[in-house]
Amino acid sequence: MCSIFSAVHKETLQRLFPTAKLDEPLRRYTAWKIGGPADALLEPSSAGELVQAVKTALEHGIPVTILGGGTNVLILDGGIRGLTVRLAKALTDVTVTGTSVIADAGVLYPVLANTTAGKGLAGLEFATGIPGTVGGAVYMNAGAYGSETREVLVWADVYKPESGQVERLPNAGLELSYRRSALHDRPGWTVLRAAYALVPGEAGELKARIKEFRAQRMTGSPNRPSCGSTFKRPEGDYPGRVIEAAGLKGTRVGQIEVSPIHANYFVNHGGGTARDVLKLIEYSRETVRDKLGIKLELEVRILGEP
Ligand SMILES: Cc1cc2nc3c(=O)[nH]c(=O)nc-3n(C[C@H](O)[C@H](O)[C@H](O)COP(=O)(O)OP(=O)(O)OC[C@H]3O[C@@H](n4cnc5c(N)ncnc54)[C@H](O)[C@@H]3O)c2cc1C
Repeated sequence: MCSIFSAVHKETLQRLFPTAKLDEPLRRYTAWKIGGPADALLEPSSAGELVQAVKTALEHGIPVTILGGGTNVLILDGGIRGLTVRLAKALTDVTVTGTSVIADAGVLYPVLANTTAGKGLAGLEFATGIPGTVGGAVYMNAGAYGSETREVLVWADVYKPESGQVERLPNAGLELSYRRSALHDRPGWTVLRAAYALVPGEAGELKARIKEFRAQRMTGSPNRPSCGSTFKRPEGDYPGRVIEAAGLKGTRVGQIEVSPIHANYFVNHGGGTARDVLKLIEYSRETVRDKLGIKLELEVRILGEP
């Protein structure tokens, strides 16, 4: 019975989204190299196609999940039901007018950092260390080296499924705070593009700054699949420091390890599962709470089914 339902369901997905890949393993699309299959994975080639796909899915009661670069998600081993829309390879236009920059949701942040620096525009150099997309960066208010997306973002065009409209939300309307935005409480809202206000700078100096940031990353971060920071900063402290102080560096569950190089990175030694990541997350949280009395909150977003 279950398999008949699932066959009909897959048939419907294929009919509604002929270019989608069915049963596509999502570990291929995540920085952690972890994640079960998407019932259907669509990589739209335009904002119009994206909006139409989301509308169609919702009209048919099919759940929709948006994936950017997959660099801040733990996709569970059971994968994602319904339609998963991935924007990292599509929607990649950047328009520069004076000091104003408009970037599509799928533009990678390091690419945006390079492009704007090359045009002598300062403000997005920090983005070089953040491997995700513009959409993911708005969703997460991504930041590094003391700067954050909210400091340079002017507006974002957001598709709201409940109204079926694209709305231009100003910075304030996105309620950006430390690794958070209004989108966390509005499932289905999808960032299509974002505008940034930058300031004139000297291209050579900006590129040198980017190079310096990159060199810092090379020495301070493990060279294995991970999602970057697993936990957010606790009040007045750093997660890497407290996890290390709790004696957790090198702790391992299956193929997942608290990196000996940076304790807030949980690295995958190959073939690791989301189940093992979750176990290591819980164990680390409990140990830090019991030994240091500090509560750690996840930065990584969890998607899909166990
Ligand atoms: C090695 C490494 C280093 C990192 N360093 C940093 C760092 O220094 N600073 C930092 O802030 N982060 C860092 N990260 C985390 C990550 O790169 C950022 O959080 C990034 O902004 C996530 O973007 P993404 O496109 O990969 O989003 P995804 O991981 O694909 O998605 C994250 C969330 O955003 C949602 N989302 C994605 N795109 C859209 C969209 N268009 N519309 C609506 N919702 C969307 C998803 O549904 C999901 O809930 C690092 C990650 C790695 C692997």
